[in-house]
Amino acid sequence: MDIFENLCRTCGNECLDLLNIYEVSVKALDKTVFVAEMLSSCLPTGFPALQPTDAYPKLICRICLKKLTLVYEFNQQWVGAHSEFNVALKFEERRKRSLASKSQDLKVL
Ligand SMILES: [Zn+2]
Repeated sequence: MDIFENLCRTCGNECLDLLNIYEVSVKALDKTVFVAEMLSSCLPTGFPALQPTDAYPKLICRICLKKLTLVYEFNQQWVGAHSEFNVALKFEERRKRSLASKSQDLKVL
């Protein structure tokens, strides 16, 4: 018998309605994502990577799955906004450099 039978991987509570993290996928930000993939992307620093063959519980309760989905969507949104800011910052930097070199060209003339 599995010592972690009916235990949620992320809260440690015993539940009857658990889902397998390696088999279930959910809709997050209009994508279908495996629960294990969402967990992997939200691992706390220093935590070992998720492995289907590890000895830890393979199930998650619905409350934790809701929280995980929110955290995953928040992180994805943040990463997306951050990369858009980087594009805008690079564009602005180029624009400033271009203006600076134009004003220098004018001084030379
Ligand atoms: Zn849980």
